[in-house]
Amino acid sequence: MLPFSTDWFMTWQPNIHASLFMAYFRFLKSNTQLRGLELIIKSYRMYLDQIKRGGMDTVLSLTRAWTMVRFFDASMLQMATCRECGGEFVAHAYDPTRGYVCGLCHMPARAGKTRRAAEAAASAAIATA
Ligand SMILES: [Zn+2]
Repeated sequence: MLPFSTDWFMTWQPNIHASLFMAYFRFLKSNTQLRGLELIIKSYRMYLDQIKRGGMDTVLSLTRAWTMVRFFDASMLQMATCRECGGEFVAHAYDPTRGYVCGLCHMPARAGKTRRAAEAAASAAIATA
């Protein structure tokens, strides 16, 4: 049994962190020979570095990141391209991705305080990937 449901990755802040991790994961997967746990750990270190640089709290744990990769392997999650910013974000596999708008372009009111940091992290991730 996997310890978490896919729903956690869809909530606003976790989704941005999960998408950031996936940007590194996908980049390393197509540009290095890294695979399996090694690939996850290396991607996670890049995520942590980015979080530290942005002065943000770590929202995604290594266990969650590993779980998310398992969800992708099981085709329970997919990447969706935001029609506003063109960034790629984690989405449910069964959700339609046409017309998808990400959490940064469609910001909930309560998100205010972390907005700038999250935007910086996400745009950095998009630039990297
Ligand atoms: Zn967007």
